[in-house]
Amino acid sequence: MLVLRFYEPFRVAVVSAPDPTPGPGEVLLQVHATGLCNSDVRVFLGEKKAVSGVVPGHEITGKVVQKGRGALAEEGEVVALCPILCCGHCVFCREGFRNRCTSRKTLGYDLDGGIAEYVSVPEDLVRMGHLLPIDPDTPPQLRALVEPFACVLNSMEALGVRAGMLFAIVGGGPMGLLHLVAATAYGAGPILVVEPDEGRRQVARQLGADAVATPDEAGEVGAMLTRGEGFPGVAVAVGLAEAVPTGIALARRLGSVNLFAGFPPGSSHPLDVNKLHYDEIRLLGTQNAPITLYARAASMIPRLPQLDRIVTNRYRLSEADQAYQARLGHDGLKSAIIVEG
Ligand SMILES: [Zn+2]
Ligand SMILES: [Zn+2]
Repeated sequence: MLVLRFYEPFRVAVVSAPDPTPGPGEVLLQVHATGLCNSDVRVFLGEKKAVSGVVPGHEITGKVVQKGRGALAEEGEVVALCPILCCGHCVFCREGFRNRCTSRKTLGYDLDGGIAEYVSVPEDLVRMGHLLPIDPDTPPQLRALVEPFACVLNSMEALGVRAGMLFAIVGGGPMGLLHLVAATAYGAGPILVVEPDEGRRQVARQLGADAVATPDEAGEVGAMLTRGEGFPGVAVAVGLAEAVPTGIALARRLGSVNLFAGFPPGSSHPLDVNKLHYDEIRLLGTQNAPITLYARAASMIPRLPQLDRIVTNRYRLSEADQAYQARLGHDGLKSAIIVEG
């Protein structure tokens, strides 16, 4: 089969590899599509670690084509994956936060992921219910959004986003726009999207933003939308430390600000600490998502065809390395490798 391998920063290549055969309890998945995540690009840039020689890709959807002995899966079932292997007995696993497991391993970083024709799904992952059935009629590039969408739902839950709640999103890239679609589906609003790029602001408007603003206009537009009160929930969905004060400034008293995106190592930025104190702002971070939210993402995505607008760049497996170049050149929004289906 063909796979993409990551060797070291700035070096990935499409190569051939033996077809995997599933061992006991394992499942062979024929990959339909795998999304390229900003964190894959951060591995490429050397900002985030992955094992040398690993097949990247953790935003995976495909079909169960073969089962190892005793594997708990249905042959022929179309699924999306929660790519996190966890121990099941650390304090975080016990409390239901498998994504916070102290010995977590993730497909695409520590074990071979989905930028390949087939992926062998480890036994632990199958047994813990991390294969999530999803409507097979949903296009593969949308099914591959289950992982990032679950992460977004985790951000929304942390912020308490609900129907009728004012909501601001700093960053109109793929993850900011996923927040927008999710917030719209929750019935939240009015929603403001802050984004410097005109094209991305336009997509945000098409996807249901009530207002858009450049970072410079954010304060004024936000005040107009909230009658000067500010937003109870703000998601910062861009990995730039300079964007954090913009998010905090948009929050109202008792409001919450979630730092959703990862930042380059060593990032820091001064904050108006009195605003945090006197306005009782809750400053949060979220990273990935518990399995319950993956299941919710897998049921929501088939009902949100407008998500297709976010997956602008599609590549064949043989040209998967180009997907990295597109992200580095800020060409389009989200990229997906379409393998089959
Ligand atoms: Zn991801
Ligand atoms: Zn654990």
